[in-house]
Amino acid sequence: MTDQTALTGPARPRGVFEQQTMSSILDLAHFRFYVIDVLSREVIHANHVQEAGPAQGSVKCHELIYQSERPCLTCPIGELLDANGQPNGRVLTSERFNEVEDCWFQLQEGTLTLSDGRTAMYSIATDISQVKQMQNSLAEAHAELTFKNQLLENLMVTDTLTGLFNRRKLDEVLSQECLRAQRTGSPMALILADIDKFKQVNDTHGHLLGDQLLVAIAGMLQQGVRQVDTVGRWGGEEFMILCPDTSLAGACTVAQSIRGMIEQHEFAVVGHKTCCFGVSEYQPGDSPQDIIRRADGALYRAKHGGRNQVCAG
Ligand code: GH3
Ligand code: MG
Ligand code: MG
Repeated sequence: MTDQTALTGPARPRGVFEQQTMSSILDLAHFRFYVIDVLSREVIHANHVQEAGPAQGSVKCHELIYQSERPCLTCPIGELLDANGQPNGRVLTSERFNEVEDCWFQLQEGTLTLSDGRTAMYSIATDISQVKQMQNSLAEAHAELTFKNQLLENLMVTDTLTGLFNRRKLDEVLSQECLRAQRTGSPMALILADIDKFKQVNDTHGHLLGDQLLVAIAGMLQQGVRQVDTVGRWGGEEFMILCPDTSLAGACTVAQSIRGMIEQHEFAVVGHKTCCFGVSEYQPGDSPQDIIRRADGALYRAKHGGRNQVCAG
């Protein structure tokens, strides 16, 4: 039957024609659409009913949509009515997972008044499963990228052998601390530590054991300072410790304490080892190079003074 025949054919009751036409159109739509009586929760109309469940009639929305005997815990009807049970005019949007269909839906829900005076709730549900899947993939990719970025950032500032900060990071922290000391006027000290006769360890026991000694001493330096201090490997068998809010005398005490700890320690295979320490303090107007140069000079004196000692510069 063509449209023309339909128009010229026998007159049909208007309500039936509208309902059938509406149902056919809604069944073509990609979204789910259903209307329910807000008091009884009975489905008045639902499209896609062939796929979703039994036809409308005495079936309730939770039975039809979620195959559940009880109303949903997140049933929106209460939010769509005022205290007197009258529509409050709100339109709600939400996302909800339908376990029966294993799909995510975006829901738009509101009220309408039927011609017989009943209040109904309509719900338009769009399948957003693919969008959700893409969102999840994106979130996973983002988390992985964040993790790898963090890893990369750590690698950039870490000495691979000892796990301490590397020279790049020490340079950065020292510059910051110099600026801070300049601005606040609070003291700041720098300690350079150098293992005594370290070459002998390599020559006698091999490079691998030398590496192990570097790791062990790095750990002792880290243990011997405060959390606010920065410890790093300056290069080879030399380490740097930056001590904010610390005077020259205070840093010398720290250095002496670490020196004693190392002197006392019995290292595996190698036995006893010692270190020299050169300590300097920030002077107003100092560049990072200035404060390093003074610590280096002090370290040189410690070496030439017989090793296993702390000198201030
Ligand atoms: P001094 O008491 O004067 O400091 O003598 P030293 O032997 O400690 O100093 P020197 O500068 O003569 O030798 C340092 C040695 O450290 C030479 C170098 O091969 C070794 N070294 C530098 N980096 C590493 C490393 O990563 N691992 C190992 N095993 N050895 C290293
Ligand atoms: Mg050295
Ligand atoms: Mg040395």
